[in-house]
Amino acid sequence: GILTIFPGMFDSFLSHGIIRRAREEAIIRVVPIDIRDFAKGKHRTTDDKPYGGGSGMVMKPEPLAGAIQEAKARLPGATTVLLSPQGRRFTQMVAKEYAALKGVIFICGRYEGVDERIYKYIDDEISIGDYVLTGGEPAAMVMIDAVTRLLPGALGAEDSADKDSFSDHLLEHAHYTRPPVFEDEGVPEVLL
Ligand code: SAH
Repeated sequence: GILTIFPGMFDSFLSHGIIRRAREEAIIRVVPIDIRDFAKGKHRTTDDKPYGGGSGMVMKPEPLAGAIQEAKARLPGATTVLLSPQGRRFTQMVAKEYAALKGVIFICGRYEGVDERIYKYIDDEISIGDYVLTGGEPAAMVMIDAVTRLLPGALGAEDSADKDSFSDHLLEHAHYTRPPVFEDEGVPEVLL
């Protein structure tokens, strides 16, 4: 489940490469939910000014709570995760944790972040690194990408994830393909 005010951002990401194939083969199922559908009023506002002042806007709790409840109803047993710079750091180990879950509901923040009272609906909070994005959407894509390729069958038979970098605390070796000489540089003899 992906909760966002910009569901269109995921169209291209979900329709290419391994992610596309994983969807076609029902290895993953993606349920996008537009937070704006749960916002009230003519303008369907999802943000408002922060109490106490300060710059920027804050995501209102009601539309988020409505969207999360809808997601939980459609994805029973799923874990809710808020993408946030304050979260625990996303690593290959965390990707493995997520690959074992029954389902995940990604909550993509925008503006200055979400109203603190939404945390009662949140099981986990993840940051993809110590930098600030304009929204949680790219972070959700990073998690979906890294987790999907760990799911059985996602990479195809000959291409396995267990030799990848980080899987045994080591980084992977260098790679070469044809041609055997490129701009005067050969391929290590041992590989030939
Ligand atoms: N004012 C906040 C930043 C908000 S950025 C702060 O200073 O901490 C807006 C949204 O982008 C956040 O709500 C979150 O969902 C997402 N986001 C930004 N940086 C992120 C990161 N490193 N990892 C995951 N999500 C991030």
